[in-house]
Amino acid sequence: MNYQTLSPELIQQLSAIAPGRVFTGSDINEDYAHDEMPIYGKSVPEAVVEAASTEEIAAVMKLCNENRIPVTPRGAGTGLVGGAVPICGGVLLVTTRMNQILSYDVENFTVTVQPGVLLNTLAEDSASKGLLYPPDPGEKFATLGGNVSTNAGGMRAVKYGCTRDYVKAMTVVLPTGEIIHLGSSVSKTSSGYSLLNLMIGSEGTLGVITELTLKLIPQPKETISLIIPYPDMESCIATVPAFFMHHLNPQALEFMGKDIVISSEAYVGKQVFPRKIDGVEAEAYLLVTFDGNDADELDAVIEKASEVVLEAGAIDVLVADTPALKRDAWAARSSFLEAIMADTKLLDECDVVVPVTQIAPFLGYVESLEETVGLKVRSFGHAGDGNLHIYCCSNDLEEAEFLPRAEKFMEAVYIKATELGGQVSGEHGIGRGKVPFLAKSVGDVNMRLMEEIKKVFDPNLILNPGKVCYKL
Ligand SMILES: Cc1cc2nc3c(=O)[nH]c(=O)nc-3n(C[C@H](O)[C@H](O)[C@H](O)COP(=O)(O)OP(=O)(O)OC[C@H]3O[C@@H](n4cnc5c(N)ncnc54)[C@H](O)[C@@H]3O)c2cc1C
Repeated sequence: MNYQTLSPELIQQLSAIAPGRVFTGSDINEDYAHDEMPIYGKSVPEAVVEAASTEEIAAVMKLCNENRIPVTPRGAGTGLVGGAVPICGGVLLVTTRMNQILSYDVENFTVTVQPGVLLNTLAEDSASKGLLYPPDPGEKFATLGGNVSTNAGGMRAVKYGCTRDYVKAMTVVLPTGEIIHLGSSVSKTSSGYSLLNLMIGSEGTLGVITELTLKLIPQPKETISLIIPYPDMESCIATVPAFFMHHLNPQALEFMGKDIVISSEAYVGKQVFPRKIDGVEAEAYLLVTFDGNDADELDAVIEKASEVVLEAGAIDVLVADTPALKRDAWAARSSFLEAIMADTKLLDECDVVVPVTQIAPFLGYVESLEETVGLKVRSFGHAGDGNLHIYCCSNDLEEAEFLPRAEKFMEAVYIKATELGGQVSGEHGIGRGKVPFLAKSVGDVNMRLMEEIKKVFDPNLILNPGKVCYKL
């Protein structure tokens, strides 16, 4: 695809659309050249436009479409697959200034927001009204526009589902500059193809989301967490189906190995997870949260859960029932990625999802690759939904040596995941980094359908080129 470069006249026209919010050359912040996984490539845009309204975005898209200028939408840039990186140059369209919570409809349990509102802002604001926005991805300073565009998952997906399940309606600017409204706040619909659902998870390749109406639920009155140590990873993972068979319905159910817990606790500067209980070393842990509205009911759940896990081989059950203990346990869990990044020179990551019953054999296979590829492997994940975060790391190799090994590792991981009935990404998306793996996993016909859909929305292929299904 032949794109045009931004001429001084076009930059002037952009400046007329977004006065004082168009940046070029050395005024472009270096952070805009990458997301949180720079290994998938850095690229500086020709211009950054920090948009302030739907109408501005529509005008930018119209101008760029007419002149074949690539446009890459960007929220907070916390993505992990290179999705918001402007690999063809052009315009980086940043939404973080569109950060207003516009209105609540408390009776219908919805909130309408601009796309640049941060997850953390909505979480705090809705909690102050006794409401909960259930999706809870680890990075709280991502934008809601980014969360919807990647269909972000997170810790509470096991009970409440992913971001997709909480999007009622949205306003979208198409690559042509047309403004459309999708969905509404009704409770059910069978009204033609769901373009709303097509937009969710489309990673800024079909349109720019400029307003969102999201579903909320009443805030549960009580939550309690358990830290459950195991002598090995196999027995730890084998317990997971038992939670569901006993109707225990956890809000979050995470697994983690000893190594990652130790480095994360060192990173946050606090030890919460026990290392040795009655002479038995803990090698793996489950961190579980239950929620409800009645303390007695929750006590009964804790009692049953303790019985179930101890029978399944857990060494002990620690109840995190004070706000401080709960906060410290989850702070350690939430810092896994930062902890790995802090003590690793080079890393690549994937977030495959496999059926829950396949987690243990899959992890065994992944660990066996450590020797084959000569890279350190670290993993943790959402045990309740089979979504695993797997890292291959090196502190010794140079990038030129690391990259082919990481590719070999990732290829083997994705082949195995597909074989076990899994999928390439549970929550981070495809972006730039996972395009070849998506193609292999879903096959030619599915890829062709995705490419054709892309062309219907974006006939000039200007929006976020090189991502998801559109190879350059
Ligand atoms: C420490 C850490 C922990 C994380 N934990 C999780 C987790 O638990 N679960 C999870 O799912 N992810 C997680 N992530 C990944 C990341 O936070 C999510 O992918 C998030 O949804 C990205 O939001 P963002 O605002 O940063 O978007 P960006 O990174 O800016 O963009 C992501 C994608 O969305 C597109 N986009 C952004 N805004 C719009 C818009 N308004 N319209 C159209 N397209 C748009 C971009 O083009 C890009 O393709 C984590 C990341 C980090 C660094």
